[in-house]
Amino acid sequence: MAFNWFWKAMGAQQSRNQKRSVAIVEDASARTAELSHLDDAALAQRARDLTAGGTLSDPAEFLAVLGVASERTLGLAPFPVQSQAVLRLLEGDVIQMATGEGKTLVGAMAATGFGLMGKRVHLITINDYLAGRDAEWMQPLVSFFGLSVGAITEKLGPEERRRVYASDVIYGPVNEIGFDVLRDQQVTRRRDAVQAPADVALVDEADSVLVDEALVPLVLAGSQPGVETTGKITEVVRTLRETEHYSIDDDRRNVFLTDAGATRVEGALGISSLYDDEHIGTTLVRVNLALHAKALLIRDIHYLVDDGKVALIDASRGRVADLQRWPDGLQAAVEAKEGLDVTEGGRILDTITLQALMRRYPMVCGMTGTAVEATDQLRQFYGLHVSEIERNKELQRFDEADRIYATAAEKNRAIVEEITLLHTNGQPVLVGTHDVAESEALAEALSERGIEVNVLNAKNDAEEARIVAEAGDLGRVTVSTQMAGRGTDIRLGGADERDHDGVATLGGLAVIGTSRHRTVRLDNQLRGRAGRQGDPGLSLFFVSLEDDVVVSGGSGESITAQPDELGRITSNRIANFVAHCQRVTEGQLLEIHAQTWKYNQLLADQRDIFDERRARLLDTPLAWEELSQRAPEKASTLSELDEGVREQAARDIMLFHLDNEWAEHLAVMDDVRESIHLRAIARETPIDEYHRIAVREFKSVAQRAVDEAVETFNTVLIDDAGAHLADNGLARPSATWTYMVSDNPLAGSGNSVVSGIGNLFR
Ligand code: ADP
Ligand code: MG
Repeated sequence: MAFNWFWKAMGAQQSRNQKRSVAIVEDASARTAELSHLDDAALAQRARDLTAGGTLSDPAEFLAVLGVASERTLGLAPFPVQSQAVLRLLEGDVIQMATGEGKTLVGAMAATGFGLMGKRVHLITINDYLAGRDAEWMQPLVSFFGLSVGAITEKLGPEERRRVYASDVIYGPVNEIGFDVLRDQQVTRRRDAVQAPADVALVDEADSVLVDEALVPLVLAGSQPGVETTGKITEVVRTLRETEHYSIDDDRRNVFLTDAGATRVEGALGISSLYDDEHIGTTLVRVNLALHAKALLIRDIHYLVDDGKVALIDASRGRVADLQRWPDGLQAAVEAKEGLDVTEGGRILDTITLQALMRRYPMVCGMTGTAVEATDQLRQFYGLHVSEIERNKELQRFDEADRIYATAAEKNRAIVEEITLLHTNGQPVLVGTHDVAESEALAEALSERGIEVNVLNAKNDAEEARIVAEAGDLGRVTVSTQMAGRGTDIRLGGADERDHDGVATLGGLAVIGTSRHRTVRLDNQLRGRAGRQGDPGLSLFFVSLEDDVVVSGGSGESITAQPDELGRITSNRIANFVAHCQRVTEGQLLEIHAQTWKYNQLLADQRDIFDERRARLLDTPLAWEELSQRAPEKASTLSELDEGVREQAARDIMLFHLDNEWAEHLAVMDDVRESIHLRAIARETPIDEYHRIAVREFKSVAQRAVDEAVETFNTVLIDDAGAHLADNGLARPSATWTYMVSDNPLAGSGNSVVSGIGNLFR
């Protein structure tokens, strides 16, 4: 009961905040005319006065100033709803604002506000292209107030990055920002780091970054020759036969060794039992990975072999996923299966999930068209509130009820019919499919009808954006895979709106979903592409009882329905059932998320402690102090040396071992995670067991790092050139590279070993 009361009170608080914002915005509009008489310098000065001391003294006046400046610099006079959104962002909310309502401007105005209050802002985008585009577009507004602005993109070198990160407002794609964090954690002199601390993360498409991709690890690896390969295991697994040695479950997501299979592997490897303590966390994991690679990952569907390398196919986007790898052991297993050089030679130096990356910011706020459906996650995982912002113009989109068919074949036929019908009138149609195979099959069926189709499988974000921008063109049919082109505005009648009114008369953009997504939120992302800024539009989803969502969400429940001669089912009961199935899959996803979160949380806490220690070693003479205390004799032999050289030598030594131990710790915990589900079989609660081991291991990390540093300090040559670590075989990797662990092919809901690993990486 108390709980209910609490949330009700929170809700009331929220709507009070919203009401207050509305009042402030009205007040702001009233003051605009007067402020527009001020010249540029006076206006900028006014903004500085209003934000002096790092607080906003008169929000209404401040919004009015921002508005006038926006009109002057960008030619965009903010709509009242945009000003309201700016206020909510400045107070640290995630705002929900529909597609096409102008979030880019909102983000830039809020970032300007933060900047004027002396806070450095990272405006985080989902890709390189959007970071560059938005920074360039919004630059006149931000610099109007004397603030500096820049964009981080993949191609920038360290020098340029350092310069951009020193700006007040920095646009950057989330993965690049994360990679820089990881690389900066390897420097031994502060001046080699590229990032300057930021106070605020303002996240665009916040649900993607903070929820969908939150648990994706970013990885920094370094060269390290001579690591063992998986050769022998691959050899024996290659000889295993389905049914006899292993079985695959119905949805082909999990594979299990049979007893006969285990015996065969044990025989070939000359070990007594795979399930011994000695092998459970190592050999068995590798055997399962090799088996997964053999039995479930299919060349040209899940990956390509190109130029002697395995390239992942990103199933949802339908293209080769640059910079993505499977969790390490699996990548190696696939390479071994294909007889390629196993790239395992590298060593993981550090990894960070997007979730942990976000924790580094004192303040996080964000914007997206679909925040409301993620309210629970945003509150549970980040303590963030969602503020829903009204549309500037009332929504004119018509969301049709789902069209439900008994079989996929009947559904597909109906989809082609419907698109053909819409197309006959010239109404533009955007079709959201679930994977490449589906998009290509549909495109082919449509071309057979003589309909020209733009299939979205572009190789880069800029080209994708261009195709999406044209999706509202008269008579255009665009077939895309999920999420394609998020961040790009679809205008009616082409990007320049040349035929806007004509297309509007035809009913605007029609969006068709070829099946429901795993969450309502993803459905709404697709729907949201139609009906921007009061334009007419249509959204319509097709569903078949054979769709994944229905099958997995409704497992076990039997339903009966009476389809018509085209296979269509019109029954409220079935419509409710479909909605129910989707809620079930949503629940499953949330559960996996919450579970994985727990695993990651502990490492994230440990990372905070590690970071703090590292920063102190980097920024203070602590390393020298500690080492000379622990090894006074050696220290005294260095008294002739320059103080700076001495301190840096000590720092290099301490940091080398600290980083080394941290990387080891991550590797150990990774192994533990991979084997923990096997332990679950042995009836331990996995998460408790994991915590116990993590805490124990971490305790020894700090101690070992210092002990080893003392040892090195005593033995290594230290002279005017510093500590000669390489002489002692303690060189840092000569090359490093970064990648994201792919959206995981293993994710399933079974409790097999391999799906266990999968879930943990999701
Ligand atoms: P969102 O990110 O919310 O989907 P965008 O920031 O991409 O939307 O903006 C969509 C379009 O709306 C852009 O072309 C932009 O120029 C236009 N726009 C934004 N704010 C305004 C405004 N106040 N007045 C006129 N056009 C605007
Ligand atoms: Mg946007």
